[in-house]
Amino acid sequence: MADTDKKQTGAPESASNFIHNVIDRDLERQKYGDRVHTRFPPEPNGYLHIGHAKSICLNFSTAEKYGGKCNLRYDDTNPVKEDMEYVDAIEEDVRWLGFQWDERLWASDYFDKMYEFAIQLIKKGKAFVCDLNADQIREYRGTLKEPGKESPYRNRSVEENLQLFEEMKEGKYGDGEKVLRAKIDMASPNINMRDPVIYRISHTEHHNTGSKYCIYPMYDYAHPIEDAIEGITHSICTLEFEDHRPLYDWVLQELEWEAPPQQIEFARLNLTNTVMSKRHLKALVDEGTVDGWDDPRMPTVAGLRRRGYTPEAIRDFCERIGVSKANSTVDVALLEHCVREDLKAKVESRNVVEDPIKIVITNYPEDQTEEMEIENNREVPELGNRKVPFSRELYVDGADFMEEPVKKYFRLFPGNEVRFKGAYFITCNEVIKNEDGSIKELHCTYDPETKSGSGFEGRKVKGTIHWVDAKTAVKIKIRNYDYLMIENEEGELALNPDSLGETWGYAEPAVSEAAPGERFQFFRHGYYIADAKLTTDTEKVFNRIVGLKSSWKK
Ligand code: ATP
Ligand code: MG
Repeated sequence: MADTDKKQTGAPESASNFIHNVIDRDLERQKYGDRVHTRFPPEPNGYLHIGHAKSICLNFSTAEKYGGKCNLRYDDTNPVKEDMEYVDAIEEDVRWLGFQWDERLWASDYFDKMYEFAIQLIKKGKAFVCDLNADQIREYRGTLKEPGKESPYRNRSVEENLQLFEEMKEGKYGDGEKVLRAKIDMASPNINMRDPVIYRISHTEHHNTGSKYCIYPMYDYAHPIEDAIEGITHSICTLEFEDHRPLYDWVLQELEWEAPPQQIEFARLNLTNTVMSKRHLKALVDEGTVDGWDDPRMPTVAGLRRRGYTPEAIRDFCERIGVSKANSTVDVALLEHCVREDLKAKVESRNVVEDPIKIVITNYPEDQTEEMEIENNREVPELGNRKVPFSRELYVDGADFMEEPVKKYFRLFPGNEVRFKGAYFITCNEVIKNEDGSIKELHCTYDPETKSGSGFEGRKVKGTIHWVDAKTAVKIKIRNYDYLMIENEEGELALNPDSLGETWGYAEPAVSEAAPGERFQFFRHGYYIADAKLTTDTEKVFNRIVGLKSSWKK
């Protein structure tokens, strides 16, 4: 029994998804023989986002699972909005996610065929040229409760329709002056079936067909033809097309297509704190609200990549959310959880302090530096150790000191002893202030007996903090991103004015070698990546990929 028939709870159905059940059934019945052929059909009018990633994973993985094929097909039927810059970006993103298409195709390659098919429909009395304008067509269409009215042009003769359609193509009419409509049923309870427009006039150059056409097919007419020509077996799309399926089927039935593709709808991905439509994302880019489509705060694949997300994490996320027939919103914390899970065993740790406070260890020899052995990844011993310099002057994180500690604060405060990770036990003795009352430095002492790895068991301390040697510290730029969008008081998503989180910090010297795109765990802070665009030999800019703590609850 298909999952679609179950009570819809919005719960994801992972692993065996309902789409695979449909395919299994079709294979059993040999509806398309042994073939499984899917496609990913982006419109090149923007960069891909995490919602597209879901569709990409679904289409390509389904083909993989059945030993079938998956095409990349550009839905370039709307020349006004499309741009070739996006084509390169889309391909880079699909490949980066780890998929390779069987064929790369363009809907516009089938414009001639689509035109011929339209003539076939006219000849069958199944399409007519209509002179109503857009407003009138809307008026005539009726509502969910009331049937529509037939166009006064509906009963034009086949000959007249053929001539007018040809004239439309020849450029005799202006944009919007005439349309070609399917002749179906103005009383259909499904509004999509009330004589939908299938061709419109648009005097716009097309990147592929140039000025050959000034008429362009509508999506609902073009898409089934594209799928059918390519031999797609299962045409997977999002839920809003469910009501368009009868039209999809009608087109192929009227064209007498054998074994027409099966359209299957699934719920699109929505994420908390995330706007996902290309139109909105494009506005953010065009208005300069973000630093391009690949701004690390953007939910675009390019943005997530620059932010430091891995393809493995995104694929894992898409697997976990599964496919469902019910619309729901996934907590963005799950996506963050997936990247954390992926990175935790892969990356090395580094010491970085923000909002630094200087420490002077008054009983430590002035000219001495020790190389402390520190593990690169506590959970993965194979990642080895590194040497981190330690000397009399150090920096600690601003958050690791409180002059007047609150309850249960176990880190540095006057009179308290803590462990400096990988080094010694250190006691804070005195706070030295600047004239303006701000903290200049902390005078501390160390206990040479307590050196890390020496097996010291004399006493225990409750707090462990990290540190950076002052002499060799590397100053780095850090961007602790927050969500680009947050809920306002009305519960709507609005721009977060503090999403950039720009700050700086001191890092241990090894960080000066970070290559663009290299990832680390900044110890006790989170996962970071050296920004691929802004990091140079001399300046290191790090993006916070994700913090260490998960707010995601199963
Ligand atoms: P947008 O509204 O964001 O512009 P779109 O659906 O218009 O998205 P297309 O380029 O037409 O973008 O989409 C290509 C494919 O990606 C389609 O099959 C579409 O259904 C799928 N897709 C788009 N957004 C999502 C989403 N949020 N979740 C799942 N699939 C999606
Ligand atoms: Mg679209």
